[in-house]
Formats: sequence, structure tokens, C-alpha cells
Amino acid sequence: PDLYPDRRNSRGAELGYRPDLAELSGAVAGGYVGEETVTGFVGGASLGENDLRDAVNPATGRTFARWAETSEADVARAVAVGKDAFPAWDRKGPAARASCLRAYADILEAHRDELLGVLGAEAGKTMDDGLAEVREAVDFCRYYAAEAERVMAPKDLPSPVGETNTYHLEGRGVFACIAPWNFPLAIFVGQAVAAIAAGNAVVAKPAEQTPVTAAMAVKLAHEAGIPGGIFNLVLGGGKVGAALTADERIAGVAFTGSTKTAKAIGRTLAEREGGIIPFIAETGGVNAMIVDSTALPEQVADDVISSAFRSAGQRCSALRVLYLQEDVADSMLEMIEGAARALVLGDPGEASTDVGPVIDAAARERLDAHWAKVGEEGRVVYVGEAPEEGTFYAPRIVEMPDLDSVQEEAFGPILHVIRYGSRQLDAVMEAIGSTGYGLTFGLHTRLEERIARLVPRAPAGNVYVNRNQIGAIVGVQPFGGRGLSGTGPKAGGPLYLTRFCEERTVTINT
Ligand code: GLU
Repeated sequence: PDLYPDRRNSRGAELGYRPDLAELSGAVAGGYVGEETVTGFVGGASLGENDLRDAVNPATGRTFARWAETSEADVARAVAVGKDAFPAWDRKGPAARASCLRAYADILEAHRDELLGVLGAEAGKTMDDGLAEVREAVDFCRYYAAEAERVMAPKDLPSPVGETNTYHLEGRGVFACIAPWNFPLAIFVGQAVAAIAAGNAVVAKPAEQTPVTAAMAVKLAHEAGIPGGIFNLVLGGGKVGAALTADERIAGVAFTGSTKTAKAIGRTLAEREGGIIPFIAETGGVNAMIVDSTALPEQVADDVISSAFRSAGQRCSALRVLYLQEDVADSMLEMIEGAARALVLGDPGEASTDVGPVIDAAARERLDAHWAKVGEEGRVVYVGEAPEEGTFYAPRIVEMPDLDSVQEEAFGPILHVIRYGSRQLDAVMEAIGSTGYGLTFGLHTRLEERIARLVPRAPAGNVYVNRNQIGAIVGVQPFGGRGLSGTGPKAGGPLYLTRFCEERTVTINT
């Protein structure tokens, strides 16, 4: 099926577009059968196959490919190769780089089915989530291509007689791009293409849970004409990331992941030799939604379910704490529980699956530990059933007396519910702000004055009213938080690219 009938207008025109998933699941049936071994790339060449590790399918627990951890020497070499490749790429100018990125977008689209297969096998992505992810990666390419042309065009500035003043943006050098496993294609590609559009070289490191998706994305980028020296790939966990960020030759870091790792990177950057460089961090959140008694119950149920449980709750935007006004709390909870019961957990490659597995056993253990605590302190409303095989975690709902035990992000399908009285809204807003996070905020109400009063006070970078609070679209809902949730600028927004650039003013006395 042609899933992108309006492919030139992928930013928003596709909002209501739904492909036939059943037909599509036929196209990727059997899941991804991986190449035997996946490695990093430096200057377009594959790295050695030492230190092999297993790539495990979280839905089955079975190994589907192997990947080679990158040595520290190769990480250093990747930075050196990027540094050498950078000046020529930067000098090419934004239009030439933009056309490479548009070619990359086309190639990603053309490989949609393979990408869906690997997203399912490696990250447990359902068909719906995988499709949205391919589309987001494509959107990032096209959006940052257009942004490079817009923001990097040289500008003539007021010039007194005998002088010309011009101003433009240029690349900074080699960017370290460190991506998370929960969007192994969209965020991985988004960070890298922003840096590349701006004229930089990239050394990208995916999460250690998702190297196979990343390797496929980098290979396709090279096929699209992005030079090997400009898009390098290193594979591994914290050790490889630490070697990369400690390298004094890198010119900036784009990171998406946990707040704890972001702080550690910040410390490394402060202490290492070399310049003071930009650090873009996008981290987690303890995201809340407030529902008052005027809200439409069916819509609330739908939006709560998708915000809390879609992608098995493994989105930094996901709803964690639902505040229900007490007079409607029981009826709303009943409806939400009914909708949660209807969720189908299972094989991500089946069109009928709503919720896939969590990423690995360690993630499931962290959720278990959190649940042991909140399940004890709160009133358990609902615990679903999970398949035996793989690392599934059943969606669950718990009613809590307050936010005290929910100060940290639990990255999975656990929804906390808190009741509030109509006079307590100010206290609720304060409690939400007290976590220090500030990523997404949801509000369901039909009172316009309430929208006008609460929206400006919401402690969040992305505020959603009367809809779900996940699935930001590139260029339509620029995405990113504040406080413990990140530094900004927002991904898919008008300021993002500028952070990857250096400014230059040239004054010529004529
Ligand atoms: N941009 C994604 C969304 O709006 C979330 C990104 C993340 O989880 O890191 O749902």
C-alpha cells in the first residue's frame, strides 16, 4: 500500500491518515531477520567484529542479531575522521546539504517495511508506533533541510558608507549525538540530521539496546549521499558514551535519555579539556493531566489510555499522574479501567496489538520495584495480564493519596491517579511543579477561563488541552521540556538548528 500519498506534505497533512495495518503486517510478516553482525561505521567503513553482543527481541527473548561494541580507539578515530570531513561539508552550504537530507528522507520512506520490522524486533514497537516513528524520522529530515535553508542564509546588515556587514550561521565541528532506545529511529535520526543540516559532522551513539536500527539508519544515510565521514556510528553503552563526550575535539553534544545521564554528561563537559560547548539535553518527566468535572468522559478515557499506555508507557512525554476531580473520579476511573481492559498485549508485528513489551528485563525490574512501593501505599485499581514470553509488563493503575511517592519517573505503563477537590486546583498545580520536571502537561475541561488560567501556569514545555499528550509532530508541536526535563531548544522547532551552529559576523572596510 502507498502509505504516504501526500509525501511532500508530511508535516500535518497526515494527521488523520491511517494506513491499513493488517495489509502492512503481511508486508513485514515474520519479523526482522537480522544480518548476522552489526558494527559501527567510521568514514563509511564497517568497524571490526570484536566484542560481540546479542541483540535480543524483547517480545520473545530470542537473539535475532549480534553487534560489536566499538573500542575506545575507534571512538577516537571516529571523532578524528569527523573533524577532517567537517570543513568541506560545512562549505557545501545549506542548499546542497538540504538536498542530501531530502534524498535521505526518500530512502527512509522506501525502506519503511524493513525499518518497521527491525523496530518491532529490536524495540518491541507495535505497527502503529513503528509507522509513526518512520514518519517522524522522515519529517525530521525534511524539516531540518528546510530549516537549514531558512536560518543559515547569509544576511546583509546595516552598513555605514565604506563598510559592509554580513552575518551568517555555520557548522561548529563534530557533534556527539547520543540517542535513547525508546525512539531508536526517530530521535536517533532527528539529532543527527539536525547537526548534519547545520554543517557539522556527527559521531552518533545509539542506546546499547538498539544498535541494529541505528546501523540500518546510518547505512541508508550513506546510500542517500551523506558522506561516511560526516555520519559516523559508534556502538556501546555508558563506557563508549563517556569516551565520546570526554573527547576534547567534539564541538557539541545532543543527548536524549535520563536526567541522571544528562547530569553526568554535563559534569564531563565541564571538566574536560577543550572549549565550552553546547549541550542539548532532552530527558524525562513526571507528566500530569488534570481532568475536571466538565470534561467529556469518553474522550478523557481515550486520551488517558493512549497517553499512559501507548508504547508501553515508554515515552518521556507519557502521562504518569492523572488528577481527577472528586465528583467525577469514580465514573471516570471505571471508564478508564474498562478501556485499559480492552488493550491487547502481544506480538508487536500483529496489526491487532496495542501494547508491546518493555525494552528489557532491567526495565521490567525497575518497574517492579516502583510498583512494589506505590502498590503498597496506594489503592490498586487495575493490573492487566501480560504474555509469559519476553519482557512484557502489564498496564496498571493505582490511586495514590498524593505525589510524595511519585517524584521520580517510572518509565513504563503505570498510571497513578490522584483525586482533588474543586478548590484545590492551585495546590495541584503547585504539587505538579514541585517535582522539578517540566515536559508535558494535559488538561481536560470545557471551561474556557480554566484553560486561560492554567495553561500559562503549567510547569511544562508541551501543554495539551482536550487531547492526548504524546506524539508531538515535527514542526507542528515542537517538543521539549524545562527544569529536570531538559535544556531545550525544542526538537522539531524553529530554534533547534541554531543550537548546532556557530555565528559569524564579517565586517569589511571597503
Ligand atoms: N516526542 C515524543 C512524543 O511526543 C516523545 C519523545 C521521547 O519519549 O523521548 O511522544
